[in-house]
Amino acid sequence: MKTVVALILCGIVLATLAACGASSDAPSPDVPVFESPPQPSEPVTAPSDIAFSDADMKMSIELEVDVDKKQITVSASMAAKVENNEFSFYIGSSLTVDEISGEGGSLEWQTEIESLEFRGPMRKVTVTAVTDGIITAKYHGSVSGAFNFIDPEAVALSFYSSWYPQGFPYADGAADQIRVTITGLSEYTVLRGEYDGGDKAWTYHSVKDDPTEDCNIIAFKPGSVFTVSRDGVSLHYLDEAEAGLAENILDYSLDALAYYNEVLYPDHKKEAGNLNIVSFSYLKGVEWAYSRAGLIVYGGLSDIDEDIFMKEGAPHELAHFWANGADTSSWEDWLNETCANWSALLYLLHIGDQDAFDQLIEMYLEYSVNFPPIKTVDGGRPNGVHNKGTVLFYELYKEHGGEMIEKLLNIFVSLPEKNTESFINEVSSQIGNETADFLQAGLLT
Ligand SMILES: [Zn+2]
Repeated sequence: MKTVVALILCGIVLATLAACGASSDAPSPDVPVFESPPQPSEPVTAPSDIAFSDADMKMSIELEVDVDKKQITVSASMAAKVENNEFSFYIGSSLTVDEISGEGGSLEWQTEIESLEFRGPMRKVTVTAVTDGIITAKYHGSVSGAFNFIDPEAVALSFYSSWYPQGFPYADGAADQIRVTITGLSEYTVLRGEYDGGDKAWTYHSVKDDPTEDCNIIAFKPGSVFTVSRDGVSLHYLDEAEAGLAENILDYSLDALAYYNEVLYPDHKKEAGNLNIVSFSYLKGVEWAYSRAGLIVYGGLSDIDEDIFMKEGAPHELAHFWANGADTSSWEDWLNETCANWSALLYLLHIGDQDAFDQLIEMYLEYSVNFPPIKTVDGGRPNGVHNKGTVLFYELYKEHGGEMIEKLLNIFVSLPEKNTESFINEVSSQIGNETADFLQAGLLT
């Protein structure tokens, strides 16, 4: 069982963490898509009430990072959709609001603490007596949240700290992207950033079509980071002792990508171009991974079983480039996670590692009995969201073999609307009522 325990530590199977008491939180929106190919530039018509000087952005953020003080200072201008003269957004609870203004000048605001899925305590900021337009919030403080840190050798700021305003409606007609201008990191390299030496500032753009719209700032101090690259995939790591592991993860990642493209999802090929994989394994205790458009971030690799991680953990995260799109903050996330798990399980069979497959299945079976049904009463994301669906599919695998699972995965990946109802309807029409009924019933047990 050693390898199985190690896999739990790597946190890919997050739900099992809670069952083991190792973690009370399951912080994985894990919601990825491959980076969209560059879009032809379209003329952007800004609505008359949206007055950014650069009207092509729906949020424009100035971020100043003070590495010595481990603090950030932010000025975020939002193309806000205001209802009933109120407008609310969320930032991390360790951040203090200094000023909020609209186009007509200073605005009043109040804050309260509220917990949100994946992020823990957040500061909900409600601005009153406001009309539509650009609302600018200035705030500062430290960041907290999984995978967020400001260290001399690297800086990571993402969705999980809510370092930027989240959870608010944008004005109708607002553009697709968010721009971040970053100062204080002139001695660093910002992943996917562009550096302007004159202003000593980096510019970063959120990735179009990324459902999380993550402003995911990852910066390395040159000389502190090691990078291995092959075939458009780069893996960055900070601990020199990981050199061998990094090479192996890269090999398996490329092999798994080839399997998904050529064998499992031949009708949904993805270019691997410009994929960055980051290992923050020097962060002890961060025991999970997440993926975004063109980005996968790992933590805690120093404690894991390398073999099982490379063969299953890394392929799981890569599989999310296909297995994504269902709502991650609700029970519907079982679709993303079950399909990512089974993509990786089929990869294990593809490379002939029946032992690893059996070990993982044993683990899923063992833990699934402790979890509640997939479909929750309140619609929330249940404990065990990675696990129960994997066991449900295993029942079908035992009876019908791997081809059945391949069909199910491809049905999910092909769905125009990624939710359970559409999935089961499509299973019913492409495979049959019996399988659809089995899955439907399995959601409630
Ligand atoms: Zn996942």
